[in-house]
Amino acid sequence: MIDELYQEIILDHSKRPRNTGRLENATAAAEGFNPLCGDRLTLELRIEDDRIEEAKFAGSGCAISTASASLMTEVLKGRTKQEAEKLFERFHELLTSDAADSSGLGKLAVFSGVREFPARVKCATLAWHTLKAALENSREKVSTE
Ligand code: ZN
Repeated sequence: MIDELYQEIILDHSKRPRNTGRLENATAAAEGFNPLCGDRLTLELRIEDDRIEEAKFAGSGCAISTASASLMTEVLKGRTKQEAEKLFERFHELLTSDAADSSGLGKLAVFSGVREFPARVKCATLAWHTLKAALENSREKVSTE
């Protein structure tokens, strides 16, 4: 069962996603696609001195994938690449393991209920898999048009 408060936060972020659009001076980017649901997104990051200064996403997807991308871009700001990778691991664990600990995950804990719906796990983790791809390619400078 998804807690009501959690449901409210997910609904809010899916209706009014934060940090959408393109990023000027992006230093890393990746595209993600979840064929199971049809969710698509492009994630752009501006990383300076190993720290994520900005993150924006664009795309279209279901409520869960949009809310997840929105909340992810919020929590990424100010994190180092290593911290972001750790968060990815913990978020993934939260969605796949009943024994997962959500302490310290802040608002990301709202997705713990998605565990009950295996088909939606890919929706919730799409943005994070895209993040991982972006971080791995971050040496390549992305040109903005
Ligand atoms: Zn989806």
